[in-house]
Amino acid sequence: MTVNSSKRLEDLEAATRIVGAGRRSEWTGPVVNPPVWRASTHLYENTAALAQGPRTNEDGRFFYGRRGAPTQWALADALTALEPGAAGTVLYPSGVAAIAGVMLTLLRPGDVVLITDNAYDPTRSMGKGLLTDMGIEPRFFDPLDLDAYEAAFCDRTRAVLLEAPGSLSMEVCDLPALARIAREKGAVSVLDNTWASPLGFAGLSHGIDVVLMALTKHVGGHSDLMMGSASAGPELYAKLRGRAQQLGNVVSPDDAALALRGLRTLHLRLAHEAQSALEIATWLSKRPEVAQVLCPMLPGAPGHDLWKRDFTGGCGLFSFTFRGGDAAARNRFIDALTLFGIGYSWGGFESLAIPIEPSAYRSNMAWPPAPAAEGDRHGVRLAIGLEAPGDLIADIEQALEAWRGQ
Ligand SMILES: *Cc1c(COP(=O)(O)O)cnc(C)c1O
Repeated sequence: MTVNSSKRLEDLEAATRIVGAGRRSEWTGPVVNPPVWRASTHLYENTAALAQGPRTNEDGRFFYGRRGAPTQWALADALTALEPGAAGTVLYPSGVAAIAGVMLTLLRPGDVVLITDNAYDPTRSMGKGLLTDMGIEPRFFDPLDLDAYEAAFCDRTRAVLLEAPGSLSMEVCDLPALARIAREKGAVSVLDNTWASPLGFAGLSHGIDVVLMALTKHVGGHSDLMMGSASAGPELYAKLRGRAQQLGNVVSPDDAALALRGLRTLHLRLAHEAQSALEIATWLSKRPEVAQVLCPMLPGAPGHDLWKRDFTGGCGLFSFTFRGGDAAARNRFIDALTLFGIGYSWGGFESLAIPIEPSAYRSNMAWPPAPAAEGDRHGVRLAIGLEAPGDLIADIEQALEAWRGQ
Protein backbone atom coordinates (compact mmCIF):
# COMPACT_ATOMS: atom_id res chain seq x y z
CA MET A 1 0.00 0.00 0.00
CA THR A 2 2.91 2.23 -0.53
CA VAL A 3 4.91 3.92 -3.17
CA ASN A 4 7.97 6.12 -3.42
CA SER A 5 7.68 9.87 -3.80
CA SER A 6 7.86 11.55 -7.16
CA LYS A 7 10.64 14.10 -6.85
CA ARG A 8 9.62 16.55 -9.52
CA LEU A 9 6.90 18.26 -7.42
CA GLU A 10 9.13 18.74 -4.42
CA ASP A 11 10.18 22.33 -5.02
CA LEU A 12 6.70 23.73 -5.60
CA GLU A 13 4.45 25.33 -2.99
CA ALA A 14 2.05 23.10 -1.04
CA ALA A 15 -1.09 24.23 -2.91
CA THR A 16 0.53 23.36 -6.22
CA ARG A 17 1.85 20.05 -4.92
CA ILE A 18 -1.62 19.10 -3.66
CA VAL A 19 -3.06 19.49 -7.15
CA GLY A 20 -0.41 17.39 -8.88
CA ALA A 21 0.54 14.91 -6.16
CA GLY A 22 0.12 11.22 -6.96
CA ARG A 23 -1.28 11.82 -10.44
CA ARG A 24 1.21 9.68 -12.38
CA SER A 25 0.01 9.02 -15.91
CA GLU A 26 0.72 5.29 -15.60
CA TRP A 27 -1.92 5.23 -12.84
CA THR A 28 -4.46 7.75 -14.15
CA GLY A 29 -4.36 6.88 -17.84
CA PRO A 30 -5.90 9.68 -19.89
CA VAL A 31 -8.21 10.91 -17.08
CA VAL A 32 -7.55 13.26 -14.14
CA ASN A 33 -7.94 10.84 -11.23
CA PRO A 34 -6.72 7.27 -10.88
CA PRO A 35 -9.63 4.86 -11.40
CA VAL A 36 -10.85 2.78 -8.45
CA TRP A 37 -8.94 -0.46 -8.93
CA ARG A 38 -10.94 -3.05 -6.99
CA ALA A 39 -8.58 -5.97 -6.94
CA SER A 40 -7.56 -8.96 -4.88
CA THR A 41 -6.04 -11.12 -7.60
CA HIS A 42 -3.41 -9.67 -9.89
CA LEU A 43 -2.95 -11.74 -13.06
CA TYR A 44 0.40 -12.71 -14.60
CA GLU A 45 1.35 -13.34 -18.21
CA ASN A 46 2.62 -16.83 -17.58
CA THR A 47 4.12 -19.08 -14.89
CA ALA A 48 7.57 -17.57 -15.30
CA ALA A 49 6.18 -14.11 -14.53
CA LEU A 50 4.19 -15.59 -11.62
CA ALA A 51 7.37 -17.10 -10.15
CA GLN A 52 9.05 -13.68 -10.47
CA GLY A 53 6.19 -11.95 -8.59
CA PRO A 54 7.18 -12.63 -4.97
CA ARG A 55 10.84 -11.81 -5.65
CA THR A 56 10.26 -8.15 -6.38
CA ASN A 57 8.58 -6.60 -3.35
CA GLU A 58 8.74 -3.04 -4.63
CA ASP A 59 6.50 0.00 -4.58
CA GLY A 60 4.17 0.45 -7.52
CA ARG A 61 4.46 -3.16 -8.71
CA PHE A 62 1.46 -5.43 -9.19
CA PHE A 63 1.61 -8.61 -7.10
CA TYR A 64 -1.49 -9.27 -4.97
CA GLY A 65 -4.29 -7.14 -3.53
CA ARG A 66 -2.72 -6.73 -0.11
CA ARG A 67 0.04 -4.61 -1.62
CA GLY A 68 -2.52 -2.34 -3.21
CA ALA A 69 -3.02 -1.14 -6.74
CA PRO A 70 -2.79 2.28 -8.42
CA THR A 71 -5.62 3.93 -6.40
CA GLN A 72 -3.86 3.28 -3.10
CA TRP A 73 -0.41 3.92 -4.56
CA ALA A 74 -1.55 7.31 -5.83
CA LEU A 75 -2.76 8.31 -2.35
CA ALA A 76 0.44 7.14 -0.65
CA ASP A 77 2.51 8.93 -3.30
CA ALA A 78 0.51 12.14 -2.87
CA LEU A 79 0.99 12.11 0.92
CA THR A 80 4.71 11.52 0.47
CA ALA A 81 4.91 14.51 -1.87
CA LEU A 82 3.36 16.69 0.88
CA GLU A 83 5.85 15.66 3.59
CA PRO A 84 9.28 17.13 2.82
CA GLY A 85 11.98 14.56 3.57
CA ALA A 86 9.69 11.53 3.26
CA ALA A 87 10.81 8.57 1.16
CA GLY A 88 7.40 6.92 1.30
CA THR A 89 4.07 6.61 3.08
CA VAL A 90 2.31 3.53 4.45
CA LEU A 91 -1.51 3.49 4.55
CA TYR A 92 -3.44 1.86 7.42
CA PRO A 93 -7.15 1.13 7.86
CA SER A 94 -7.51 3.78 10.63
CA GLY A 95 -5.48 6.33 12.54
CA VAL A 96 -5.24 3.98 15.51
CA ALA A 97 -4.04 1.20 13.18
CA ALA A 98 -1.30 3.58 11.98
CA ILE A 99 -0.17 4.20 15.59
CA ALA A 100 -0.21 0.44 16.30
CA GLY A 101 1.60 -0.31 13.03
CA VAL A 102 4.36 2.18 13.87
CA MET A 103 4.71 0.95 17.48
CA LEU A 104 4.87 -2.70 16.38
CA THR A 105 7.59 -1.76 13.91
CA LEU A 106 9.81 0.07 16.38
CA LEU A 107 9.37 -1.81 19.66
CA ARG A 108 10.34 -5.22 21.03
CA PRO A 109 9.59 -6.91 24.37
CA GLY A 110 11.71 -5.26 27.07
CA ASP A 111 11.74 -1.85 25.38
CA VAL A 112 10.48 1.38 26.94
CA VAL A 113 8.39 3.86 24.97
CA LEU A 114 7.90 7.43 26.18
CA ILE A 115 4.38 8.63 25.44
CA THR A 116 3.33 12.27 25.77
CA ASP A 117 0.93 12.63 28.68
CA ASN A 118 -1.55 14.64 26.60
CA ALA A 119 -1.86 11.97 23.89
CA TYR A 120 -5.10 10.99 22.21
CA ASP A 121 -6.77 8.60 24.65
CA PRO A 122 -6.71 5.48 22.42
CA THR A 123 -2.93 6.05 22.09
CA ARG A 124 -2.67 6.02 25.89
CA SER A 125 -4.84 2.92 26.09
CA MET A 126 -2.64 1.22 23.50
CA GLY A 127 0.37 1.87 25.75
CA LYS A 128 -1.39 0.48 28.82
CA GLY A 129 -2.99 -2.40 26.94
CA LEU A 130 -1.45 -3.80 23.76
CA LEU A 131 2.12 -2.62 24.42
CA THR A 132 2.14 -3.58 28.11
CA ASP A 133 0.74 -7.02 27.22
CA MET A 134 3.68 -7.45 24.85
CA GLY A 135 6.24 -6.66 27.55
CA ILE A 136 6.83 -3.10 26.35
CA GLU A 137 6.80 -0.47 29.08
CA PRO A 138 4.98 2.83 28.40
CA ARG A 139 6.14 5.85 30.40
CA PHE A 140 4.03 8.99 30.23
CA PHE A 141 5.82 12.34 30.36
CA ASP A 142 4.87 16.03 30.50
CA PRO A 143 5.99 17.42 27.10
CA LEU A 144 6.23 20.95 28.57
CA ASP A 145 8.93 19.87 31.06
CA LEU A 146 12.05 19.17 29.00
CA ASP A 147 14.18 18.29 32.05
CA ALA A 148 11.72 15.66 33.28
CA TYR A 149 11.45 14.33 29.73
CA GLU A 150 15.21 13.99 29.39
CA ALA A 151 15.38 12.27 32.78
CA ALA A 152 12.70 9.79 31.72
CA PHE A 153 15.00 8.12 29.17
CA CYS A 154 16.82 4.91 30.07
CA ASP A 155 18.98 2.50 28.08
CA ARG A 156 15.85 0.56 27.08
CA THR A 157 14.04 3.59 25.57
CA ARG A 158 13.58 2.91 21.86
CA ALA A 159 10.85 5.33 20.84
CA VAL A 160 9.07 8.54 21.82
CA LEU A 161 5.47 9.19 20.84
CA LEU A 162 4.60 12.88 20.50
CA GLU A 163 1.41 14.74 19.67
CA ALA A 164 0.87 18.47 19.25
CA PRO A 165 -1.21 20.26 20.17
CA GLY A 166 -2.18 18.00 23.08
CA SER A 167 -5.42 16.08 22.82
CA LEU A 168 -8.37 18.07 24.27
CA SER A 169 -6.17 20.50 26.26
CA MET A 170 -4.52 21.79 23.04
CA GLU A 171 -1.17 23.01 24.44
CA VAL A 172 1.73 23.16 21.95
CA CYS A 173 5.11 21.77 23.05
CA ASP A 174 8.64 22.35 21.73
CA LEU A 175 8.62 19.59 19.10
CA PRO A 176 12.09 20.31 17.61
CA ALA A 177 13.66 20.15 21.10
CA LEU A 178 11.80 16.95 22.03
CA ALA A 179 12.85 15.34 18.73
CA ARG A 180 16.48 16.45 19.15
CA ILE A 181 16.71 15.00 22.66
CA ALA A 182 15.17 11.70 21.43
CA ARG A 183 17.81 11.51 18.70
CA GLU A 184 20.63 12.25 21.16
CA LYS A 185 19.34 9.40 23.32
CA GLY A 186 19.18 6.99 20.39
CA ALA A 187 15.37 6.77 20.32
CA VAL A 188 13.08 7.12 17.31
CA SER A 189 10.67 10.06 17.52
CA VAL A 190 7.12 9.60 16.24
CA LEU A 191 4.64 12.46 15.90
CA ASP A 192 0.86 12.17 15.63
CA ASN A 193 0.43 15.17 13.28
CA THR A 194 -3.29 14.80 12.66
CA TRP A 195 -4.11 18.34 13.86
CA ALA A 196 -1.71 20.34 11.69
CA SER A 197 -1.08 17.94 8.77
CA PRO A 198 2.17 18.49 6.86
CA LEU A 199 0.72 21.78 5.60
CA GLY A 200 0.72 23.21 9.14
CA PHE A 201 3.80 21.43 10.52
CA ALA A 202 6.52 19.81 8.44
CA GLY A 203 7.50 17.08 10.92
CA LEU A 204 10.46 15.43 9.23
CA SER A 205 12.01 18.85 8.49
CA HIS A 206 11.83 19.62 12.22
CA GLY A 207 13.75 16.48 13.20
CA ILE A 208 10.86 14.02 13.73
CA ASP A 209 11.59 10.50 12.43
CA VAL A 210 8.08 9.20 11.70
CA VAL A 211 5.05 11.42 11.08
CA LEU A 212 1.64 9.81 11.25
CA MET A 213 -1.89 11.07 10.68
CA ALA A 214 -5.48 9.96 11.07
CA LEU A 215 -6.58 10.57 7.48
CA THR A 216 -10.07 10.00 8.90
CA LYS A 217 -9.97 13.65 9.95
CA HIS A 218 -8.83 16.40 7.58
CA VAL A 219 -7.53 14.45 4.61
CA GLY A 220 -10.80 12.56 4.20
CA GLY A 221 -12.42 15.82 5.25
CA HIS A 222 -16.04 14.77 4.73
CA SER A 223 -16.75 12.46 7.71
CA ASP A 224 -17.21 9.43 5.47
CA LEU A 225 -14.06 7.31 5.71
CA MET A 226 -11.50 5.93 8.16
CA MET A 227 -7.80 5.66 7.36
CA GLY A 228 -4.33 6.37 8.72
CA SER A 229 -0.87 7.00 7.34
CA ALA A 230 2.78 7.03 8.39
CA SER A 231 5.55 8.78 6.43
CA ALA A 232 9.29 8.50 7.03
CA GLY A 233 12.75 8.66 5.48
CA PRO A 234 14.10 5.69 3.49
CA GLU A 235 15.28 3.40 6.29
CA LEU A 236 12.28 3.68 8.60
CA TYR A 237 9.88 3.71 5.67
CA ALA A 238 11.22 0.32 4.53
CA LYS A 239 10.74 -1.07 8.05
CA LEU A 240 7.22 0.32 8.38
CA ARG A 241 6.28 -1.03 4.97
CA GLY A 242 7.62 -4.50 5.79
CA ARG A 243 5.77 -4.64 9.12
CA ALA A 244 2.53 -3.36 7.57
CA GLN A 245 2.73 -6.21 5.05
CA GLN A 246 3.29 -8.74 7.84
CA LEU A 247 0.32 -7.34 9.74
CA GLY A 248 -1.85 -7.51 6.63
CA ASN A 249 -2.72 -3.81 6.66
CA VAL A 250 -4.71 -2.83 3.62
CA VAL A 251 -7.11 0.00 2.72
CA SER A 252 -9.97 -0.22 0.26
CA PRO A 253 -9.51 1.44 -3.13
CA ASP A 254 -12.90 3.16 -2.74
CA ASP A 255 -11.74 4.79 0.48
CA ALA A 256 -8.38 5.68 -1.11
CA ALA A 257 -10.24 7.43 -3.95
CA LEU A 258 -12.35 9.36 -1.42
CA ALA A 259 -9.22 10.32 0.52
CA LEU A 260 -7.59 11.55 -2.69
CA ARG A 261 -10.67 13.64 -3.43
CA GLY A 262 -10.53 15.10 0.07
CA LEU A 263 -6.82 15.78 -0.19
CA ARG A 264 -7.21 18.05 -3.23
CA THR A 265 -8.99 20.70 -1.13
CA LEU A 266 -7.13 20.15 2.15
CA HIS A 267 -5.30 23.49 2.06
CA LEU A 268 -8.50 25.47 1.38
CA ARG A 269 -10.47 23.77 4.15
CA LEU A 270 -7.66 24.09 6.69
CA ALA A 271 -7.18 27.78 5.94
CA HIS A 272 -10.92 28.50 6.22
CA GLU A 273 -11.29 26.49 9.42
CA ALA A 274 -8.23 28.02 11.06
CA GLN A 275 -9.42 31.54 10.22
CA SER A 276 -12.93 30.85 11.55
CA ALA A 277 -11.57 29.13 14.65
CA LEU A 278 -9.36 32.12 15.44
CA GLU A 279 -12.31 34.49 14.99
CA ILE A 280 -14.52 32.39 17.28
CA ALA A 281 -11.70 31.84 19.81
CA THR A 282 -11.06 35.59 19.95
CA TRP A 283 -14.77 36.25 20.51
CA LEU A 284 -14.96 33.60 23.25
CA SER A 285 -11.87 35.02 24.99
CA LYS A 286 -13.80 38.26 25.62
CA ARG A 287 -16.87 36.60 27.11
CA PRO A 288 -17.43 36.74 30.89
CA GLU A 289 -18.67 33.10 30.92
CA VAL A 290 -15.34 31.83 29.55
CA ALA A 291 -12.20 31.20 31.68
CA GLN A 292 -9.58 29.93 29.19
CA VAL A 293 -9.54 29.57 25.41
CA LEU A 294 -7.16 26.78 24.45
CA CYS A 295 -6.49 27.52 20.80
CA PRO A 296 -2.89 27.44 19.52
CA MET A 297 -3.54 30.25 17.01
CA LEU A 298 -4.82 32.63 19.72
CA PRO A 299 -2.17 34.98 21.18
CA GLY A 300 -1.73 34.21 24.88
CA ALA A 301 -3.05 30.63 24.63
CA PRO A 302 -0.80 27.83 26.01
CA GLY A 303 1.98 27.18 23.51
CA HIS A 304 0.96 29.97 21.12
CA ASP A 305 4.54 31.26 20.87
CA LEU A 306 5.84 27.79 19.93
CA TRP A 307 2.99 27.39 17.43
CA LYS A 308 3.98 30.71 15.89
CA ARG A 309 7.65 29.74 15.76
CA ASP A 310 7.26 26.22 14.32
CA PHE A 311 3.89 25.90 12.58
CA THR A 312 2.75 27.31 9.25
CA GLY A 313 -0.96 26.73 9.82
CA GLY A 314 -3.68 25.47 12.11
CA CYS A 315 -7.16 24.06 11.85
CA GLY A 316 -10.61 24.40 13.38
CA LEU A 317 -10.12 22.23 16.46
CA PHE A 318 -9.79 23.97 19.84
CA SER A 319 -11.18 23.92 23.38
CA PHE A 320 -12.31 26.34 26.06
CA THR A 321 -13.28 26.19 29.74
CA PHE A 322 -16.15 27.89 31.52
CA ARG A 323 -15.62 30.33 34.37
CA GLY A 324 -17.14 28.35 37.21
CA GLY A 325 -20.41 26.54 36.68
CA ASP A 326 -20.80 22.79 36.79
CA ALA A 327 -20.83 19.88 34.36
CA ALA A 328 -24.61 20.13 34.01
CA ALA A 329 -24.38 23.79 32.90
CA ARG A 330 -21.63 22.89 30.41
CA ASN A 331 -23.81 20.08 29.04
CA ARG A 332 -26.79 22.46 28.78
CA PHE A 333 -24.60 24.71 26.63
CA ILE A 334 -23.71 21.86 24.27
CA ASP A 335 -27.28 20.60 24.07
CA ALA A 336 -28.48 24.12 23.20
CA LEU A 337 -26.18 24.45 20.16
CA THR A 338 -28.08 24.07 16.90
CA LEU A 339 -25.32 24.32 14.27
CA PHE A 340 -22.86 21.96 16.01
CA GLY A 341 -23.27 18.20 15.91
CA ILE A 342 -22.41 16.26 19.08
CA GLY A 343 -19.93 13.58 18.17
CA TYR A 344 -16.35 12.31 18.38
CA SER A 345 -13.98 12.77 15.49
CA TRP A 346 -13.46 16.06 13.64
CA GLY A 347 -11.93 17.40 10.43
CA GLY A 348 -15.13 17.12 8.39
CA PHE A 349 -16.94 20.04 6.72
CA GLU A 350 -19.40 20.29 9.63
CA SER A 351 -18.91 21.77 13.09
CA LEU A 352 -18.94 19.55 16.17
CA ALA A 353 -18.88 20.01 19.96
CA ILE A 354 -18.13 17.62 22.85
CA PRO A 355 -17.73 17.99 26.62
CA ILE A 356 -14.15 17.32 27.78
CA GLU A 357 -12.66 16.14 31.09
CA PRO A 358 -8.94 15.73 30.25
CA SER A 359 -7.95 14.93 33.86
CA ALA A 360 -9.33 11.42 33.29
CA TYR A 361 -6.57 10.91 30.69
CA ARG A 362 -3.54 12.47 32.40
CA SER A 363 -1.00 11.23 34.92
CA ASN A 364 1.58 14.06 34.82
CA MET A 365 -0.20 17.19 33.60
CA ALA A 366 -2.61 19.47 35.44
CA TRP A 367 -6.11 20.19 34.20
CA PRO A 368 -7.14 22.93 33.73
CA PRO A 369 -3.75 24.20 32.52
CA ALA A 370 -2.06 27.02 34.47
CA PRO A 371 -2.88 29.76 35.17
CA ALA A 372 -6.41 28.60 35.95
CA ALA A 373 -8.66 28.86 38.97
CA GLU A 374 -9.64 25.52 40.49
CA GLY A 375 -13.35 25.80 39.67
CA ASP A 376 -12.82 26.71 36.02
CA ARG A 377 -12.52 23.13 34.84
CA HIS A 378 -15.56 22.28 32.75
CA GLY A 379 -14.47 22.29 29.13
CA VAL A 380 -15.83 22.01 25.64
CA ARG A 381 -13.97 21.04 22.49
CA LEU A 382 -15.19 22.67 19.30
CA ALA A 383 -14.37 21.45 15.81
CA ILE A 384 -15.09 24.39 13.53
CA GLY A 385 -16.25 23.40 10.07
CA LEU A 386 -16.93 25.33 6.89
CA GLU A 387 -20.03 27.23 8.01
CA ALA A 388 -19.94 31.06 8.15
CA PRO A 389 -18.19 31.99 11.43
CA GLY A 390 -20.77 34.71 12.21
CA ASP A 391 -23.55 32.12 12.25
CA LEU A 392 -21.52 29.85 14.54
CA ILE A 393 -20.81 32.77 16.92
CA ALA A 394 -24.53 33.62 17.06
CA ASP A 395 -25.29 29.98 17.85
CA ILE A 396 -22.66 29.91 20.62
CA GLU A 397 -24.03 33.19 22.01
CA GLN A 398 -27.55 31.81 22.35
CA ALA A 399 -26.22 28.57 23.89
CA LEU A 400 -24.36 30.61 26.54
CA GLU A 401 -27.77 31.67 27.80
CA ALA A 402 -28.55 28.01 28.44
CA TRP A 403 -25.25 27.74 30.35
CA ARG A 404 -26.32 30.67 32.55
CA GLY A 405 -29.58 28.83 33.18
CA GLN A 406 -31.84 31.18 31.26
C1 LIG B 1 -8.93 10.51 15.47
C2 LIG B 1 -7.52 10.53 15.87
C3 LIG B 1 -6.75 9.37 15.80
C4 LIG B 1 -7.33 8.04 15.40
O1 LIG B 1 -7.84 7.99 14.13
P1 LIG B 1 -8.96 6.92 13.75
O2 LIG B 1 -8.94 6.93 12.27
O3 LIG B 1 -10.23 7.38 14.36
O4 LIG B 1 -8.51 5.59 14.31
C5 LIG B 1 -5.42 9.45 16.14
N1 LIG B 1 -4.87 10.61 16.56
C6 LIG B 1 -5.58 11.74 16.64
C7 LIG B 1 -4.90 12.98 17.07
C8 LIG B 1 -6.92 11.73 16.31
O5 LIG B 1 -7.62 12.87 16.41
